[in-house]
Amino acid sequence: MMQKPEVNSLRELRGYGEAYLKEAQIADAKTDAWLLLEYAAHITKSYYFMHMHEEIPEENAALYTKLVERRAARIPLQYLTGEAWCYGNRFLVNHHVLIPRQDTEILIEEAVRRLHTGMRVLDLCTGSGCILISLLKQKMISGTGSDLSEEALAVAKKNAELHHVQAEWVKSDLFREIEGTFDLIVSNPPYIPADVIPLLDPEVRDHEPHLALEGGADGMDFYRRITEASGSYLKENGWLCVEIGYDEGSAVREMFETNGYSEVSVIQDYAGLDRVVCGMKRGV
Ligand code: GLN
Repeated sequence: MMQKPEVNSLRELRGYGEAYLKEAQIADAKTDAWLLLEYAAHITKSYYFMHMHEEIPEENAALYTKLVERRAARIPLQYLTGEAWCYGNRFLVNHHVLIPRQDTEILIEEAVRRLHTGMRVLDLCTGSGCILISLLKQKMISGTGSDLSEEALAVAKKNAELHHVQAEWVKSDLFREIEGTFDLIVSNPPYIPADVIPLLDPEVRDHEPHLALEGGADGMDFYRRITEASGSYLKENGWLCVEIGYDEGSAVREMFETNGYSEVSVIQDYAGLDRVVCGMKRGV
């Protein structure tokens, strides 16, 4: 067991945090120790380098050591600090929403390429709202975000306030409570096969909402439902763009094509893995 530092100096605390997290085999021990210190002591890295021998109040030091212990227990860093970054913006997160991944920025980018002023956009399984809010910050559009989880919608609403954007937030099982037609439908639905869930990192498996992760036996339940129903909710020449698992590209492409979508493309993420599928509802 690691001994807590005797003095609450920034330097001692940071060293303690890093060693504690390393011992607990946290992959990014050094970075996480830094970020938690910045959060608990309300400092920046540059402040640290000028004042590393400064002692911080007992209260902040106690908060820091507690956060380090919780991180060692595999609680994701973003749930401890309550924030995550996506597409250059800060979003509030808690354990009711998935922490935005870099992968999702690919979906946002593809949606932005198809986005025009005045569009009506729907984001299914919105979670923290990071996708829809990022789009609302790009263009004057109207947005609807839906989620099955009331708690997730509460987070999305807070994020919309934080970013001064207006959206309609609807509690809905996919399209069930959705009315009207849209120019663009985006979604990062749950897509992990049920039997893969036990194999995920403890951070994800034990702390992120399974409701946002598990996509049925083959992971593709949501794509089946979305591609079957979305035609009735899209205007002619409207786009459907979804995030997918790395091995789901050809199956999801086929679902798009079977359901009458044209110009279907599978887009890769920065690791070169299939990550997004987009298709257009054919005009008549
Ligand atoms: N990309 C996420 C992960 O690998 C899963 C996101 C999802 O199911 N929509 O943890």
